[in-house]
Amino acid sequence: MSARDVIVVGAGPAGVAAAILLVERGWSVTLLDKAAFPRPKICGEYLSPESARILDRLGALKAVDEAGGQPLRGMKIVAPDGTVIVGSYPTTGPWRSHRDYALAIPRERLDHILVERARSLPVDVRERHRVTELVREGREVTGVHAQDADGRALELRARLVIGADGRASAVAAALGLLRPHPLRRMALIQHVAGLHGFDERGEIFVDPPDYAILNPVAPGLVNLGLVVPLAHARPFAGRLETFFHARLRQMPRLASRLEGMKPVGSMQAMGPLAYRVKAPGAGGVMLVGDAAGFYDPFTGEGIFTALRSAELLAEVAHAALDRGTLGATALRPYVDARRECFRGKERLTRALQFVIARRRLANAAAHALLRRPALLDLLMGVLGDFVPPAALVRAALPGGRYRPG
Ligand SMILES: Cc1cc2nc3c(=O)[nH]c(=O)nc-3n(C[C@H](O)[C@H](O)[C@H](O)COP(=O)(O)OP(=O)(O)OC[C@H]3O[C@@H](n4cnc5c(N)ncnc54)[C@H](O)[C@@H]3O)c2cc1C
Repeated sequence: MSARDVIVVGAGPAGVAAAILLVERGWSVTLLDKAAFPRPKICGEYLSPESARILDRLGALKAVDEAGGQPLRGMKIVAPDGTVIVGSYPTTGPWRSHRDYALAIPRERLDHILVERARSLPVDVRERHRVTELVREGREVTGVHAQDADGRALELRARLVIGADGRASAVAAALGLLRPHPLRRMALIQHVAGLHGFDERGEIFVDPPDYAILNPVAPGLVNLGLVVPLAHARPFAGRLETFFHARLRQMPRLASRLEGMKPVGSMQAMGPLAYRVKAPGAGGVMLVGDAAGFYDPFTGEGIFTALRSAELLAEVAHAALDRGTLGATALRPYVDARRECFRGKERLTRALQFVIARRRLANAAAHALLRRPALLDLLMGVLGDFVPPAALVRAALPGGRYRPG
């Protein structure tokens, strides 16, 4: 049995970021993942402009660029009535992002780069280690039970356990914290070739109750994501690929854009997308990234949320490890900081979900954005994670104004 300061469960963006930021501060960290990297991960593969700041801080941005990260200057949004809005990330005005563009890159590449970055530091990275349970003493979590690549059972002890093991988190499940969410949607994702003319922009097709996103993730390769009500997909369980292609044909504007498309690899499906996770009441444990909850990929901020939460977590974890007090109260400031940091964007995301689920409202919103390009700029900045949502709300209210520059 070995002891260290921190065990991080899950080596996706959240887990790697937490591990790197804590090792940098001098703590001993073991990073466990049940998979061997590179491994697939269902995702739209979009990274907001502000994600680049944190990738840079983790020392991974150069490798992402070298691995072919595709710049995205903005988004083209097609409303249900065919109105086309072309939004760009604002490059003038009071708020600037780390870069003027977002990135698109296959997750297999991104996550492998991040794990390699952790491995290049004194992080004890262990792939093919599945965490099965938590070790507890009273109300405190003191380690994990895991199974290694050869199926051997291990007990690993640490002062702090970080659950970064994504949706269906074993850590959150062991603590009884997972909750269903009333939003019941499913995503179907397929890499495709044969599509052209992206001009460094992703494309979103809103056609209630569905929406689809095209994201050019590598030269000649596009991530095509379709999100539908779960109830519509359920009768096609076992035939989801047939459902996927039929549904694409039912969205006329998208269908004409997809002419000549050729699937690459197999389709991936995930649903329900949204779920909630309660904050841990136990000491010695923290949750980060998807292990702490997920809503919907429309605004594409899951990876940014994972990375930014890891930054917030590292601040609180470092102070708690330093003081030697790792009870739930000592770790609570992380939960509060996370809530505060993402509250505005979460509200906006919920409002956008309401709009894009209603044809007339979605059309009216598109017409309003066409009339007010400054508002569109602000919306792009919020989606890019560098303009505070409150600035958009202020500008959108009657009499509200915003002039760039
Ligand atoms: C359909 C869809 C589309 C999306 N599109 C986007 C997008 O375009 N842009 C964006 O920013 N976000 C997007 N997201 C969200 C994004 O994928 C997640 O928010 C992000 O991956 C969260 O990172 P994470 O590190 O928390 O979890 P993950 O990336 O899921 O990593 C968790 C890791 O934990 C490991 N693990 C799991 N269980 C165990 C265990 N018991 N023991 C050990 N290891 C374990 C897994 O192998 C995995 O490597 C999308 C999500 C979905 C579902």
